[in-house]
Amino acid sequence: MPTILKFCGGTREVSGSNHLIQTDSSKVLLDAGLFYGHRQEFYQNNTNFVYNPFDIDALILSHVHIDHSGNIPSLVKRGYRNRVYTTSATKSLCRLMLLDSGKIQEQDVKFVNKIHRRKNLPSVKPLYTKKEAEYCMRFFRGVSYHRKIRVTKDIHITFYEAGHILGSALVLLEIKENSRRIKVGYVVDLGRADLPLINSPEFLQGLDYLIIESTYGNRMHPPISEAKEKLAQVVNTTINRAGKVIIPSFAMERTQEILCFLSELMEERKIKDVPIYLDSPLAIDITAVFKRHLSYLDARTQKLFSEGLGPFLNRNMVYMRKVNESKKLNRDSRPMIIIAGSGMCESGRILHHLKNNIEDKKNTILVVGYMAKNTLGKRLVERQRRVRIFGEEYDLNAEVVVNNAFSGHADRDALIEYVQKCRDGIKKIFVVHGDEDQSLALVKRLRERGYDVYAPYKNEEIEL
Ligand SMILES: [Zn+2]
Ligand SMILES: [Zn+2]
Repeated sequence: MPTILKFCGGTREVSGSNHLIQTDSSKVLLDAGLFYGHRQEFYQNNTNFVYNPFDIDALILSHVHIDHSGNIPSLVKRGYRNRVYTTSATKSLCRLMLLDSGKIQEQDVKFVNKIHRRKNLPSVKPLYTKKEAEYCMRFFRGVSYHRKIRVTKDIHITFYEAGHILGSALVLLEIKENSRRIKVGYVVDLGRADLPLINSPEFLQGLDYLIIESTYGNRMHPPISEAKEKLAQVVNTTINRAGKVIIPSFAMERTQEILCFLSELMEERKIKDVPIYLDSPLAIDITAVFKRHLSYLDARTQKLFSEGLGPFLNRNMVYMRKVNESKKLNRDSRPMIIIAGSGMCESGRILHHLKNNIEDKKNTILVVGYMAKNTLGKRLVERQRRVRIFGEEYDLNAEVVVNNAFSGHADRDALIEYVQKCRDGIKKIFVVHGDEDQSLALVKRLRERGYDVYAPYKNEEIEL
Protein backbone atom coordinates (compact mmCIF):
# COMPACT_ATOMS: atom_id res chain seq x y z
CA MET A 1 0.00 0.00 0.00
CA PRO A 2 1.37 3.46 -0.84
CA THR A 3 1.79 6.05 1.90
CA ILE A 4 -1.25 8.27 2.21
CA LEU A 5 -1.51 11.76 3.62
CA LYS A 6 -5.01 12.70 4.73
CA PHE A 7 -5.83 16.29 5.69
CA CYS A 8 -8.43 15.96 8.44
CA GLY A 9 -8.59 19.56 9.67
CA GLY A 10 -7.02 23.00 9.42
CA THR A 11 -7.21 23.18 5.62
CA ARG A 12 -8.41 26.41 3.99
CA GLU A 13 -9.02 27.62 7.56
CA VAL A 14 -6.84 28.34 10.57
CA SER A 15 -8.22 26.24 13.43
CA GLY A 16 -8.41 22.49 14.00
CA SER A 17 -5.03 21.36 12.60
CA ASN A 18 -5.14 17.58 12.21
CA HIS A 19 -3.46 15.42 9.56
CA LEU A 20 -3.08 11.65 9.22
CA ILE A 21 -0.17 9.74 7.70
CA GLN A 22 -1.05 6.19 6.86
CA THR A 23 1.50 3.60 5.75
CA ASP A 24 1.38 -0.16 5.29
CA SER A 25 1.73 -0.77 8.97
CA SER A 26 1.10 2.46 10.83
CA LYS A 27 -1.19 5.42 11.33
CA VAL A 28 0.33 8.59 12.74
CA LEU A 29 -1.39 11.91 13.44
CA LEU A 30 0.14 15.37 13.16
CA ASP A 31 -1.53 17.68 15.71
CA ALA A 32 -5.05 17.41 17.12
CA GLY A 33 -6.18 21.01 17.34
CA LEU A 34 -9.44 22.44 18.49
CA PHE A 35 -11.74 23.65 15.75
CA TYR A 36 -13.31 27.04 16.56
CA GLY A 37 -16.85 27.80 15.54
CA HIS A 38 -20.37 28.35 16.81
CA ARG A 39 -21.54 25.94 19.48
CA GLN A 40 -23.15 23.17 17.45
CA GLU A 41 -20.52 23.23 14.73
CA PHE A 42 -17.83 23.36 17.42
CA TYR A 43 -19.13 20.23 19.11
CA GLN A 44 -19.71 18.31 15.85
CA ASN A 45 -16.31 19.09 14.38
CA ASN A 46 -14.39 18.36 17.56
CA THR A 47 -16.07 15.01 18.28
CA ASN A 48 -16.48 13.38 14.85
CA PHE A 49 -13.24 11.86 13.67
CA VAL A 50 -12.82 10.40 10.19
CA TYR A 51 -10.58 7.71 11.71
CA ASN A 52 -10.97 5.58 14.79
CA PRO A 53 -8.79 7.17 17.52
CA PHE A 54 -8.26 3.67 18.90
CA ASP A 55 -6.40 2.66 15.70
CA ILE A 56 -3.86 5.50 15.77
CA ASP A 57 -0.31 4.46 16.67
CA ALA A 58 1.23 7.83 17.55
CA LEU A 59 0.43 11.53 17.74
CA ILE A 60 3.04 14.18 16.96
CA LEU A 61 2.32 17.59 18.47
CA SER A 62 4.00 20.68 16.99
CA HIS A 63 3.25 23.17 19.79
CA VAL A 64 0.91 24.06 22.63
CA HIS A 65 -1.46 26.51 20.88
CA ILE A 66 -5.00 25.23 21.30
CA ASP A 67 -5.66 25.13 17.54
CA HIS A 68 -2.96 22.39 17.49
CA SER A 69 -3.26 20.63 20.87
CA GLY A 70 -6.75 21.48 22.13
CA ASN A 71 -8.53 18.37 20.87
CA ILE A 72 -6.13 15.80 22.34
CA PRO A 73 -8.43 15.26 25.37
CA SER A 74 -11.35 14.48 23.00
CA LEU A 75 -9.18 12.04 21.10
CA VAL A 76 -8.24 10.27 24.34
CA LYS A 77 -11.86 10.35 25.48
CA ARG A 78 -12.75 8.48 22.29
CA GLY A 79 -10.15 5.75 22.60
CA TYR A 80 -6.69 7.07 21.75
CA ARG A 81 -4.22 5.27 24.03
CA ASN A 82 -0.77 5.70 22.50
CA ARG A 83 1.97 8.26 22.93
CA VAL A 84 1.85 11.98 22.28
CA TYR A 85 5.33 13.05 21.15
CA THR A 86 6.24 16.68 21.60
CA THR A 87 9.07 18.80 23.01
CA SER A 88 9.56 18.81 26.79
CA ALA A 89 8.65 22.51 26.99
CA THR A 90 5.41 21.91 25.07
CA LYS A 91 4.58 19.04 27.40
CA SER A 92 4.90 21.36 30.43
CA LEU A 93 2.85 24.06 28.74
CA CYS A 94 0.13 21.58 27.73
CA ARG A 95 -0.42 20.66 31.35
CA LEU A 96 -1.42 24.29 32.00
CA MET A 97 -3.16 25.13 28.74
CA LEU A 98 -5.19 21.93 28.29
CA LEU A 99 -6.41 22.00 31.89
CA ASP A 100 -7.39 25.62 31.39
CA SER A 101 -9.16 24.64 28.17
CA GLY A 102 -11.09 21.95 30.10
CA LYS A 103 -12.09 24.57 32.65
CA ILE A 104 -13.34 26.86 29.87
CA GLN A 105 -15.38 24.00 28.32
CA GLU A 106 -17.01 23.33 31.69
CA GLN A 107 -17.80 27.00 32.31
CA ASP A 108 -19.23 27.39 28.84
CA VAL A 109 -21.56 24.42 29.27
CA LYS A 110 -22.71 25.70 32.65
CA PHE A 111 -23.79 28.91 30.95
CA VAL A 112 -25.57 27.05 28.12
CA ASN A 113 -27.35 24.71 30.55
CA LYS A 114 -28.70 27.67 32.50
CA ILE A 115 -30.45 28.84 29.33
CA HIS A 116 -31.53 25.29 28.46
CA ARG A 117 -33.16 24.83 31.87
CA ARG A 118 -35.16 28.00 31.36
CA LYS A 119 -36.33 26.76 27.97
CA ASN A 120 -36.92 23.18 29.18
CA LEU A 121 -34.28 21.83 26.81
CA PRO A 122 -32.06 18.84 27.67
CA SER A 123 -28.73 19.70 29.30
CA VAL A 124 -25.48 19.39 27.35
CA LYS A 125 -22.06 17.98 28.32
CA PRO A 126 -18.71 19.71 27.93
CA LEU A 127 -16.43 18.62 25.10
CA TYR A 128 -14.07 17.58 27.88
CA THR A 129 -13.55 18.48 31.50
CA LYS A 130 -10.48 19.70 33.34
CA LYS A 131 -10.14 16.22 34.81
CA GLU A 132 -10.27 14.59 31.38
CA ALA A 133 -7.61 17.03 30.16
CA GLU A 134 -5.45 16.03 33.11
CA TYR A 135 -5.89 12.33 32.31
CA CYS A 136 -4.54 12.73 28.77
CA MET A 137 -1.24 14.15 30.08
CA ARG A 138 -0.05 10.60 30.98
CA PHE A 139 0.40 9.85 27.28
CA PHE A 140 2.81 12.75 26.67
CA ARG A 141 6.50 12.09 25.97
CA GLY A 142 8.87 15.06 25.99
CA VAL A 143 11.62 14.92 23.37
CA SER A 144 14.35 17.48 22.72
CA TYR A 145 15.17 19.13 19.40
CA HIS A 146 17.44 17.29 16.89
CA ARG A 147 16.94 13.84 18.43
CA LYS A 148 15.74 11.33 15.87
CA ILE A 149 13.26 8.92 17.39
CA ARG A 150 11.29 5.96 16.12
CA VAL A 151 7.56 6.46 16.64
CA THR A 152 6.35 3.39 14.74
CA LYS A 153 7.95 0.48 12.86
CA ASP A 154 8.33 2.53 9.69
CA ILE A 155 8.27 6.18 10.82
CA HIS A 156 11.00 8.24 12.49
CA ILE A 157 10.64 11.87 13.50
CA THR A 158 13.00 14.71 14.45
CA PHE A 159 11.94 18.03 15.98
CA TYR A 160 13.55 21.31 14.88
CA GLU A 161 13.12 24.84 16.23
CA ALA A 162 10.04 26.57 14.77
CA GLY A 163 10.79 30.00 16.30
CA HIS A 164 7.07 30.53 16.93
CA ILE A 165 6.52 30.15 20.71
CA LEU A 166 8.34 28.41 23.56
CA GLY A 167 8.85 24.73 22.66
CA SER A 168 7.36 25.04 19.17
CA ALA A 169 8.69 22.48 16.70
CA LEU A 170 8.91 21.84 12.99
CA VAL A 171 8.71 18.13 12.33
CA LEU A 172 10.82 16.08 9.93
CA LEU A 173 9.16 12.70 9.26
CA GLU A 174 11.14 9.91 7.64
CA ILE A 175 8.93 7.17 6.29
CA LYS A 176 10.21 3.78 5.18
CA GLU A 177 8.16 2.31 2.35
CA ASN A 178 9.77 -0.95 1.07
CA SER A 179 13.03 0.24 -0.48
CA ARG A 180 11.83 3.86 -0.68
CA ARG A 181 12.44 6.58 1.91
CA ILE A 182 10.03 9.51 2.01
CA LYS A 183 10.87 12.74 3.86
CA VAL A 184 7.96 14.94 4.86
CA GLY A 185 8.38 18.34 6.51
CA TYR A 186 5.62 19.70 8.76
CA VAL A 187 6.07 23.46 9.06
CA VAL A 188 2.94 24.46 10.98
CA ASP A 189 3.21 26.99 12.64
CA LEU A 190 6.28 28.79 11.36
CA GLY A 191 7.65 31.60 13.55
CA ARG A 192 9.80 34.61 12.83
CA ALA A 193 13.47 35.39 13.08
CA ASP A 194 14.31 37.89 15.84
CA LEU A 195 11.35 37.24 18.14
CA PRO A 196 12.39 37.97 21.71
CA LEU A 197 13.20 35.08 24.09
CA ILE A 198 13.36 32.18 21.60
CA ASN A 199 15.62 31.13 18.73
CA SER A 200 14.90 31.67 15.03
CA PRO A 201 13.28 28.94 12.89
CA GLU A 202 15.53 26.22 11.47
CA PHE A 203 15.36 25.04 7.86
CA LEU A 204 14.41 21.46 7.09
CA GLN A 205 16.60 19.88 4.41
CA GLY A 206 16.23 17.15 1.80
CA LEU A 207 12.42 17.09 1.80
CA ASP A 208 10.24 15.25 -0.68
CA TYR A 209 7.04 16.84 0.59
CA LEU A 210 6.39 19.98 2.58
CA ILE A 211 3.25 20.88 4.54
CA ILE A 212 3.36 24.59 5.35
CA GLU A 213 1.09 27.08 7.14
CA SER A 214 -0.32 30.23 5.51
CA THR A 215 -1.90 32.32 8.29
CA TYR A 216 -0.28 35.38 6.70
CA GLY A 217 0.00 33.94 3.17
CA ASN A 218 -0.74 37.34 1.69
CA ARG A 219 0.23 39.83 4.37
CA MET A 220 3.39 41.47 5.66
CA HIS A 221 4.26 42.45 9.26
CA PRO A 222 6.21 45.47 10.42
CA PRO A 223 9.52 44.37 12.00
CA ILE A 224 9.34 43.20 15.61
CA SER A 225 11.55 46.13 16.69
CA GLU A 226 8.59 48.36 15.82
CA ALA A 227 6.47 46.52 18.40
CA LYS A 228 8.90 47.58 21.11
CA GLU A 229 9.15 51.20 19.93
CA LYS A 230 5.38 51.55 19.74
CA LEU A 231 5.02 50.01 23.20
CA ALA A 232 7.37 52.68 24.60
CA GLN A 233 5.43 55.43 22.84
CA VAL A 234 2.10 54.28 24.24
CA VAL A 235 3.43 53.91 27.78
CA ASN A 236 5.06 57.37 27.72
CA THR A 237 2.03 59.18 26.33
CA THR A 238 -0.28 57.57 28.87
CA ILE A 239 1.99 57.99 31.89
CA ASN A 240 2.56 61.66 30.98
CA ARG A 241 -1.15 62.28 31.28
CA ALA A 242 -1.20 60.29 34.54
CA GLY A 243 -3.24 57.45 33.06
CA LYS A 244 -3.15 53.66 33.18
CA VAL A 245 -2.12 51.38 30.31
CA ILE A 246 -4.42 48.36 30.18
CA ILE A 247 -3.12 45.46 28.07
CA PRO A 248 -5.48 42.55 27.41
CA SER A 249 -2.98 39.79 26.77
CA PHE A 250 -2.76 36.16 25.79
CA ALA A 251 -1.19 34.20 28.64
CA MET A 252 1.05 32.21 26.35
CA GLU A 253 4.12 33.94 24.84
CA ARG A 254 2.63 37.39 24.13
CA THR A 255 2.58 38.22 27.86
CA GLN A 256 6.18 37.11 28.28
CA GLU A 257 7.25 39.12 25.22
CA ILE A 258 5.63 42.23 26.67
CA LEU A 259 7.20 41.70 30.09
CA CYS A 260 10.56 41.28 28.39
CA PHE A 261 10.16 44.48 26.30
CA LEU A 262 8.91 46.52 29.28
CA SER A 263 11.80 45.32 31.38
CA GLU A 264 14.30 46.26 28.63
CA LEU A 265 12.67 49.65 28.08
CA MET A 266 12.97 50.45 31.78
CA GLU A 267 16.61 49.34 31.87
CA GLU A 268 17.30 51.48 28.80
CA ARG A 269 15.50 54.39 30.53
CA LYS A 270 13.16 54.75 27.56
CA ILE A 271 10.10 54.55 29.79
CA LYS A 272 9.58 55.79 33.31
CA ASP A 273 9.58 53.57 36.37
CA VAL A 274 5.94 52.74 36.96
CA PRO A 275 4.47 49.60 38.47
CA ILE A 276 3.70 46.75 36.05
CA TYR A 277 0.99 44.40 37.30
CA LEU A 278 0.67 40.94 35.79
CA ASP A 279 -2.85 40.04 36.81
CA SER A 280 -3.30 36.49 35.51
CA PRO A 281 -2.52 33.28 37.43
CA LEU A 282 -2.28 31.32 34.15
CA ALA A 283 0.22 33.79 32.68
CA ILE A 284 2.24 33.64 35.91
CA ASP A 285 2.35 29.83 35.72
CA ILE A 286 3.36 29.94 32.06
CA THR A 287 6.10 32.46 32.82
CA ALA A 288 7.46 29.97 35.36
CA VAL A 289 7.62 27.30 32.63
CA PHE A 290 9.96 29.56 30.64
CA LYS A 291 12.32 29.61 33.60
CA ARG A 292 12.21 25.82 33.92
CA HIS A 293 13.12 25.25 30.25
CA LEU A 294 16.13 27.50 29.81
CA SER A 295 17.63 25.35 27.04
CA TYR A 296 14.66 26.29 24.83
CA LEU A 297 15.45 30.01 25.10
CA ASP A 298 17.89 32.05 23.03
CA ALA A 299 21.44 32.64 24.25
CA ARG A 300 20.74 36.23 25.26
CA THR A 301 17.79 35.28 27.48
CA GLN A 302 19.72 32.37 29.00
CA LYS A 303 22.50 34.78 29.89
CA LEU A 304 20.03 37.16 31.55
CA PHE A 305 18.70 34.33 33.69
CA SER A 306 22.20 33.18 34.64
CA GLU A 307 23.03 36.72 35.76
CA GLY A 308 20.13 36.75 38.18
CA LEU A 309 16.74 38.22 37.53
CA GLY A 310 16.09 37.45 33.86
CA PRO A 311 13.62 39.26 31.65
CA PHE A 312 10.48 38.61 33.70
CA LEU A 313 11.40 40.29 36.91
CA ASN A 314 12.47 43.79 37.65
CA ARG A 315 11.87 46.08 40.59
CA ASN A 316 8.56 47.34 39.15
CA MET A 317 6.91 44.04 38.30
CA VAL A 318 4.20 42.70 40.56
CA TYR A 319 2.73 39.24 39.95
CA MET A 320 -0.81 38.96 41.27
CA ARG A 321 -2.57 35.68 41.91
CA LYS A 322 -5.28 36.70 44.34
CA VAL A 323 -8.55 38.33 43.29
CA ASN A 324 -8.56 40.76 46.23
CA GLU A 325 -5.12 42.08 45.19
CA SER A 326 -6.50 42.58 41.73
CA LYS A 327 -9.50 44.48 43.11
CA LYS A 328 -7.25 46.81 45.11
CA LEU A 329 -5.92 48.24 41.86
CA ASN A 330 -9.34 49.82 41.22
CA ARG A 331 -8.76 52.21 44.10
CA ASP A 332 -5.18 53.00 43.14
CA SER A 333 -5.08 56.13 40.97
CA ARG A 334 -1.32 56.14 40.24
CA PRO A 335 -0.14 55.72 36.64
CA MET A 336 0.57 52.04 36.00
CA ILE A 337 0.62 49.23 33.46
CA ILE A 338 -1.83 46.34 33.91
CA ILE A 339 -1.50 43.14 31.88
CA ALA A 340 -4.46 40.80 32.31
CA GLY A 341 -6.23 37.96 30.50
CA SER A 342 -8.10 37.02 28.50
CA GLY A 343 -6.61 38.29 25.29
CA MET A 344 -9.87 38.83 23.43
CA CYS A 345 -11.58 40.31 26.54
CA GLU A 346 -14.26 37.62 26.59
CA SER A 347 -13.63 36.54 30.18
CA GLY A 348 -11.16 36.86 33.02
CA ARG A 349 -9.83 39.69 35.13
CA ILE A 350 -9.32 42.05 32.19
CA LEU A 351 -13.08 42.68 32.28
CA HIS A 352 -12.86 44.29 35.74
CA HIS A 353 -9.98 46.51 34.67
CA LEU A 354 -11.78 47.58 31.51
CA LYS A 355 -14.97 48.30 33.43
CA ASN A 356 -13.08 50.51 35.87
CA ASN A 357 -10.87 52.36 33.41
CA ILE A 358 -12.65 52.52 30.08
CA GLU A 359 -14.55 55.75 30.72
CA ASP A 360 -11.49 57.84 31.64
CA LYS A 361 -9.78 59.42 28.65
CA LYS A 362 -6.43 59.55 30.46
CA ASN A 363 -6.16 55.76 30.09
CA THR A 364 -5.08 53.65 27.13
CA ILE A 365 -6.19 50.19 26.09
CA LEU A 366 -3.32 48.63 24.20
CA VAL A 367 -4.29 45.79 21.85
CA VAL A 368 -1.40 43.43 21.10
CA GLY A 369 -3.08 40.41 19.52
CA TYR A 370 -5.70 39.20 17.13
CA MET A 371 -9.30 39.95 18.10
CA ALA A 372 -11.88 37.59 16.59
CA LYS A 373 -15.28 38.69 15.35
CA ASN A 374 -18.01 39.13 17.96
CA THR A 375 -15.64 39.62 20.90
CA LEU A 376 -15.41 42.60 23.25
CA GLY A 377 -11.81 42.94 22.06
CA LYS A 378 -13.03 43.45 18.51
CA ARG A 379 -15.55 46.08 19.62
CA LEU A 380 -12.71 47.95 21.33
CA VAL A 381 -10.58 47.77 18.19
CA GLU A 382 -13.54 49.15 16.22
CA ARG A 383 -13.73 51.94 18.81
CA GLN A 384 -17.46 51.55 19.35
CA ARG A 385 -18.76 54.50 21.34
CA ARG A 386 -20.48 52.40 24.01
CA VAL A 387 -19.58 48.84 24.98
CA ARG A 388 -21.24 46.30 27.23
CA ILE A 389 -19.27 44.72 30.12
CA PHE A 390 -20.96 42.37 32.63
CA GLY A 391 -24.34 43.39 31.22
CA GLU A 392 -23.84 47.13 31.69
CA GLU A 393 -23.04 49.80 29.12
CA TYR A 394 -19.93 51.97 29.38
CA ASP A 395 -18.65 54.90 27.33
CA LEU A 396 -15.43 54.10 25.55
CA ASN A 397 -13.47 57.27 26.35
CA ALA A 398 -10.05 55.70 26.88
CA GLU A 399 -7.67 55.77 23.94
CA VAL A 400 -7.41 52.48 22.03
CA VAL A 401 -4.08 51.71 20.36
CA VAL A 402 -3.52 48.64 18.19
CA ASN A 403 0.05 47.37 18.00
CA ASN A 404 0.15 44.96 15.05
CA ALA A 405 3.88 44.40 15.03
CA PHE A 406 3.62 41.62 17.60
CA SER A 407 3.10 38.45 15.62
CA GLY A 408 4.52 35.00 16.12
CA HIS A 409 3.90 33.95 12.52
CA ALA A 410 6.08 34.25 9.43
CA ASP A 411 4.59 36.72 6.94
CA ARG A 412 4.20 36.23 3.19
CA ASP A 413 7.79 36.93 2.18
CA ALA A 414 9.20 34.90 5.07
CA LEU A 415 7.06 31.89 4.07
CA ILE A 416 8.32 32.11 0.48
CA GLU A 417 11.89 32.51 1.66
CA TYR A 418 11.47 29.47 3.89
CA VAL A 419 10.35 27.30 0.96
CA GLN A 420 13.21 28.57 -1.21
CA LYS A 421 15.75 27.69 1.44
CA CYS A 422 14.41 24.11 1.71
CA ARG A 423 14.13 23.81 -2.04
CA ASP A 424 16.30 20.85 -3.05
CA GLY A 425 14.15 18.15 -4.56
CA ILE A 426 10.75 19.07 -3.07
CA LYS A 427 8.19 17.18 -5.13
CA LYS A 428 5.08 18.83 -3.78
CA ILE A 429 4.05 21.49 -1.30
CA PHE A 430 0.76 21.46 0.61
CA VAL A 431 -0.49 24.80 1.92
CA VAL A 432 -2.67 24.55 5.06
CA HIS A 433 -3.56 26.57 8.20
CA GLY A 434 -4.84 29.82 6.73
CA ASP A 435 -8.08 31.49 5.74
CA GLU A 436 -8.82 30.41 2.18
CA ASP A 437 -7.79 33.73 0.58
CA GLN A 438 -4.46 33.64 2.43
CA SER A 439 -3.75 30.00 1.48
CA LEU A 440 -4.64 30.52 -2.18
CA ALA A 441 -2.56 33.69 -2.42
CA LEU A 442 0.48 31.77 -1.15
CA VAL A 443 -0.23 28.89 -3.57
CA LYS A 444 -0.28 31.39 -6.45
CA ARG A 445 2.98 33.05 -5.48
CA LEU A 446 4.78 29.73 -5.01
CA ARG A 447 3.47 28.45 -8.36
CA GLU A 448 4.85 31.56 -10.03
CA ARG A 449 8.21 30.51 -8.67
CA GLY A 450 7.93 27.08 -10.28
CA TYR A 451 6.78 24.89 -7.37
CA ASP A 452 4.15 22.18 -7.51
CA VAL A 453 1.79 23.55 -4.82
CA TYR A 454 -1.69 22.68 -3.68
CA ALA A 455 -4.13 23.79 -0.98
CA PRO A 456 -5.94 20.58 0.01
CA TYR A 457 -9.57 20.41 1.11
CA LYS A 458 -10.72 18.93 4.39
CA ASN A 459 -10.66 15.12 4.35
CA GLU A 460 -8.83 14.97 1.03
CA GLU A 461 -6.38 12.05 0.69
CA ILE A 462 -3.17 12.27 -1.27
CA GLU A 463 -0.86 9.42 -2.20
CA LEU A 464 2.79 10.22 -1.57
ZN1 LIG B 1 0.64 28.58 16.85
ZN1 LIG C 1 -1.80 27.62 14.65
